[in-house]
Amino acid sequence: MNTRPQKKWMITIRPLGISCVLLTFICIQKSIAEDKPLKRVLLAGAAAIEITPPLGEMVVGGFVPFPANQIHDPLFAKCIALDDGENRIAIVICDNLGIRREEFDKARRIIAERTEILTANILMAATHTHSATRGQTEKYSPILIEGIAQAVQKAVDQLEPARIGWSSIDEPSEVFNRRWFLEDETLRHNPFGGVDQVRMNPPRGHLSLVEPAGPIDPEISVLSIQAIDGTQLALLGNYSLHYVGGVTRGEISADYFGLFAEKITKKLGQSKASHPPMVGILSNGTSGDINNINFRARDGRRWAPYEKMEQVADLIANRVEEAHRKIEHQDWIPIRSIHREIPLKVRKSDPSLRDYHRELSKKDETDPVHHRYEKIYADRVRNLDLGPNQYEIPLQCLCLGDLAILGIPFETFAEIGLELKAKSPFKKTFTIELANDSRGYLPTPRQHRLGGYETWMGTNRVEKNASEKITATLLEMLRSVK
Ligand SMILES: [Zn+2]
Repeated sequence: MNTRPQKKWMITIRPLGISCVLLTFICIQKSIAEDKPLKRVLLAGAAAIEITPPLGEMVVGGFVPFPANQIHDPLFAKCIALDDGENRIAIVICDNLGIRREEFDKARRIIAERTEILTANILMAATHTHSATRGQTEKYSPILIEGIAQAVQKAVDQLEPARIGWSSIDEPSEVFNRRWFLEDETLRHNPFGGVDQVRMNPPRGHLSLVEPAGPIDPEISVLSIQAIDGTQLALLGNYSLHYVGGVTRGEISADYFGLFAEKITKKLGQSKASHPPMVGILSNGTSGDINNINFRARDGRRWAPYEKMEQVADLIANRVEEAHRKIEHQDWIPIRSIHREIPLKVRKSDPSLRDYHRELSKKDETDPVHHRYEKIYADRVRNLDLGPNQYEIPLQCLCLGDLAILGIPFETFAEIGLELKAKSPFKKTFTIELANDSRGYLPTPRQHRLGGYETWMGTNRVEKNASEKITATLLEMLRSVK
């Protein structure tokens, strides 16, 4: 790293003669040795590797999976690698609904063999696009794992002196809490024979809508990485929006996450032979209860396929460009990654639920239903009952100077992200959900009491106070670094 100033000095002193050169060279060597602790160099690299699945793989995200029959836009695993001279970390964001720990860990082991990066120093997450296919199939799993490993390897191979900065900007217009209190009780039935207090995705513009059951997080966080000549190497955005959707059925798409990346790269990327192309990335914040539907609106506007997604990506890219202008990049920051596992109890059915399911199994196809998914949930509950009693949950904090990036392996409710941001001892904090595993929804205990889809046993799988344990652990991890 110190060859550059040395070379420059050698050129300017060349005419002064050999002895003078030697003397100056010794002085420079000395000053370099003395300066070494002060002149710290940050290295960064970024890369994107395609992970589009083969056609015929099953698109997941709804109640019934269906085969992919067309590629609308390619899917990617995108990586940013950072090195402060002491610690090397990587962030990998994949276009997928949610990736299990088994796949991530296989990729980690390959990365450890090919690079010097510690397995615990990599934060891996899925964007939560609903037009991708299951990650754990025989055909697709090797493509996904190799794609993740190659993205990290390439990013590490491209490490170069860099500078880093961050900022944020609010965009409340595209995020809506999707859980609503509504007067009409028939709209609040749950698949367990009961009635909830709130309903997920109520009918748009319905007269019985009262108010949303939780907040939104309007913040777009922006992490910018540039080469020391100012060339944009990568940009990582973070917004708490589930996804946008509106794809043609059966088509593979990275959703607005992919479109955002394209748009921001057009705005900030420069094609220079001296640097690799910019990598634009949008990660998902805490959006377990947030979507893009304005439930109050009664206009009934129908969007053409991909139209809405395009519009949202445009707006978010414009806002990120605005936030990017305010960033003051730093030449060096200390980098740390902390990883911790916590055990969470898996939810199990109680005697009354078992009685209910026993009665349900006697029902005929023609009998009236309390809820249209009651049988699907009976199966989901049975699977939980037969499964393990406890999960090990990976939690991660990446500390980049005054910025903390948290990783939670659930579809996390917005209020959890807001609490972490408010209580974090770091100047700026944001959370990436579905990180390092995919364990279903994470509501708060209050939201569990209100009920609704995300809290149903089978959609939610862990103990009802899980969010409190996770929040307390992450804050403790952050305080241990501060
Ligand atoms: Zn979801």
